[in-house]
Amino acid sequence: MPELFIDSTWRPAAEGGRREVVNPYDGEAFTTVDEASAPDAEAAVLAARRAFDTGPWPRTGVQERSALLRRVADLLERDREEIARTETLDTGKTLVESRIDVDDVAAVFRYYAEQVLVEVDRTVDVGRDDVVSRVVHHPVGVCTLIAPWNYPLLQMSWKVAPALAAGNTVVLKPSEVTPLSTVHLVRLLVEAGVPDGVVNLVLGAGSAVGPVLTEHPAVDLVSFTGGLETGRAILRSTAQTVKRTTVELGGKNPQLVFADADLERAADTVLTGVFLHAGQVCSAGTRLIVEESIADELVARVAERARRVRLGNGLDEGTESGPLVSAVHREKVEGYVRLGLQEGARLVTGGRRPADPDLARGFFYEPTIFDGCDRSMRLVQEETFGPIMTVERFRTEAEAVELGNDTAYGLAGGVQTGDDERGERVARALRHGTVWINDFGPYVPQAEWGGMRMSGNGRELGPAGLAEYRETQHVWRNTKPAAADWFKG
Ligand code: NAD
Repeated sequence: MPELFIDSTWRPAAEGGRREVVNPYDGEAFTTVDEASAPDAEAAVLAARRAFDTGPWPRTGVQERSALLRRVADLLERDREEIARTETLDTGKTLVESRIDVDDVAAVFRYYAEQVLVEVDRTVDVGRDDVVSRVVHHPVGVCTLIAPWNYPLLQMSWKVAPALAAGNTVVLKPSEVTPLSTVHLVRLLVEAGVPDGVVNLVLGAGSAVGPVLTEHPAVDLVSFTGGLETGRAILRSTAQTVKRTTVELGGKNPQLVFADADLERAADTVLTGVFLHAGQVCSAGTRLIVEESIADELVARVAERARRVRLGNGLDEGTESGPLVSAVHREKVEGYVRLGLQEGARLVTGGRRPADPDLARGFFYEPTIFDGCDRSMRLVQEETFGPIMTVERFRTEAEAVELGNDTAYGLAGGVQTGDDERGERVARALRHGTVWINDFGPYVPQAEWGGMRMSGNGRELGPAGLAEYRETQHVWRNTKPAAADWFKG
């Protein structure tokens, strides 16, 4: 069955392109998919446009749209194991993580099935009895939804669930590195009964299909999650037609640990915060900022546990962390390790590919810790998107906050302390979109997610994640029209 879904038909790429899909665990291409080019992207955009302008979906009642989202959630739960396996083969992440991802995706569909029923239209009191003033909401139109490879289905669900709930039509563009779970999702959307042309799927390289999907005048909104440089390019592409554009970009996320924190628990939180999914998490807590008096002890504990992380095949239940997503990405991570050494950072552990011959064919890299870092280093400031943690030390709370905010990004941060008041104070002083106190990583569909500064310009999840896909309109009705007599002539 072909993998492009355009105008309610599964079809191969117009120019016959195919792409190999590689398992990062062993470097083997285990399947191929259709690879779109510009004409496919154009056809998808035009199909979504027709469905928006003349199809039923934007005019369908919220109860019906809500019901469709619930059906999708049910189908995701039915196919949980198959999707999780697919995600593991595609990304290398462990099956446990993939199952959590599928559960989270279903939860996002259920959340927006409920949230779309919350009335947001409102009557405005304008202080006159001859006027009825209403603020009403509409879908934005045709939405291009572009997702990255680290959480392929999860990141796509944060876009497609609210976009459909609000009555938009969509063109989905998953990462060319990890297309398979999104193909499955589109099958489920069709099975759930989404009307013709409402959902379109384009697989392919960003450079080939991206310009059409982001510049085309028939597209009204672009929602993008990915790297900073791509985000900048997309903002430039959408500027010409002034599209509504949301970019969710990278992070360089601090984990602040004060001396009054429980050391053992703090070490565990730091470890998970940085090395989960081999550090390929936008909110990975890669920057440990620790109070000087406990720094040596904490770093030693985290390093000791980092050395014991069990790398392996994501499909094996005993595996704790999979490989990096691709050979190219591992080279980028290795480049950062070389850079760190040149910049004078001191390697505590890792800094190499694992010696285990069973892992030699995959794109594995050892959890890596650099001590003796400071904020002037590129290693401390740039997103490495791999299993690399840097260590900086502080003496005062003010210094900790200043270091935590000394980044161009602002996606997420953590503070660990035994003092609740300090935790709350520091959390509010950190300029990051999410801050965890004595924790690192959890999120829920009900709470907004997104970045400050160069981590992005919008919000996903929560009510704001739905508002991104709605237009606001003010309708003013004069019930007793009379001449204004402003101009006397
Ligand atoms: P990427 O920027 O390379 O690619 C992301 C997507 O954009 C892919 O689908 C890609 O094909 C597409 N793309 C590339 N060039 C394009 C163009 N010119 N026009 C349109 N689309 C184009 O990112 P990646 O390597 O897939 O993902 C990793 C990045 O994503 C990291 O920086 C990470 O921090 C970020 N991320 C952010 C969040 C968040 O919530 N803020 C979540 C997950 C990942």
